[in-house]
Amino acid sequence: MSMGLPEDSQQGQQFLSRDQYRQSTSQRSQKDAKAGIYITDISMAMINIKSTDRKGFEVITPFRNFCFTAESERKRQEWMEAVQQSVVETLADYEVAEKIWFNESNRSCADCNAPNPDWASINLGVVICKNCAGQHRILGSKISKVHSLKLDSPIWSNELVELFITVGNAKVNSYWEANLLSGSNIKIHEASNINHRRLYITHKYKEGRYKKTFSPKLSQGQLNEALCKSVVTTDILETMILVFSGADTMCTTGDTINSTPYLLAKEAGQRLQMEFLHHNRFSDYKLSDLPNSGTLRNLFYCGFLHKVSSTSKIPNNRKLQEDMKKWWCTIEDNFLCYHENEDTSEPDGVIDLSDVVCLVVHPSDPSLNSGAFFTFEIYLLSERMFLFGTENTESQKEWTKAIVKVILIFI
Ligand SMILES: [Zn+2]
Repeated sequence: MSMGLPEDSQQGQQFLSRDQYRQSTSQRSQKDAKAGIYITDISMAMINIKSTDRKGFEVITPFRNFCFTAESERKRQEWMEAVQQSVVETLADYEVAEKIWFNESNRSCADCNAPNPDWASINLGVVICKNCAGQHRILGSKISKVHSLKLDSPIWSNELVELFITVGNAKVNSYWEANLLSGSNIKIHEASNINHRRLYITHKYKEGRYKKTFSPKLSQGQLNEALCKSVVTTDILETMILVFSGADTMCTTGDTINSTPYLLAKEAGQRLQMEFLHHNRFSDYKLSDLPNSGTLRNLFYCGFLHKVSSTSKIPNNRKLQEDMKKWWCTIEDNFLCYHENEDTSEPDGVIDLSDVVCLVVHPSDPSLNSGAFFTFEIYLLSERMFLFGTENTESQKEWTKAIVKVILIFI
């Protein structure tokens, strides 16, 4: 939180009412921004404030003091109270973030690993960065309720903070990312673009593509029953897993007095369970083990691939380098899509992998693998051929492995 000041205010007293000041700053901000004149911000995190006379007060920072004069004594009092409130809020909010970061795994974003994330999904129990928070909002509040660690202080009860410290990103991710292919490039990172981020977060939480599944599959009744048993214990992670897997937080317990899981937890004195259930009373997670979801869950893949523009015949070694163009490619379900770049949502081309009749990998062919490209070919039922290239053998292996997994479903 900060106060914006025109440059010349640093030199002495200001004679502005709050409204006048806002208006003046706004006008100045626009005018001065055009003229390139600097506007000062005072961070509320590091200031002290004291009255100087009947209408005046002073804001003291480690670097400079700023003197203000209000229109009246009452206005001065209002100003001082507003500034003091801002200071309190700013400090309190930092306290929440730092408490939650006490759990080591909360110091990096649960989705992209960006450091010092200061947002959270309070029903999912994960700490996330600002960029991922934007994508969580798109999922809707039935899946993710997004709050800032620094701005929405009233939501951060002691129980909620304790819940985040007790569980933490690593444990929650052990559920949501249980089936993520290790070493694959599915997982987003700090610099991932908005499309990749949106896709990953949608797949992870809304579709539950990478989440842990129960074997054998549990019915809705079994999940609800397990939830009622779990909420009276200290095992909050077990409760989270059951709810994320589709257990109904508002199910009937069979107990005439404690008729909901929340009331059961309350009766047992389980504060963290109550807090989690409270934030998930309207949540709507997909039931685990949807038909075929176990088979298709791992097939998503994305990254850059080089592709030869003309596929009539395999070009010679030198021409191969010239003809290869870099595309952003994705494998979703049984389609391999190639895009001009990472930010375009509409693909330039789509290959139906259910039509593949042959996949040829060139791991060590010196005539093809010289230079930057490690190639493989895809032959379709329609007699079309696609030649792709990667920049290293690991990437070639991952891509061909992902394609083979899709093809195998149709054999
Ligand atoms: Zn993130």
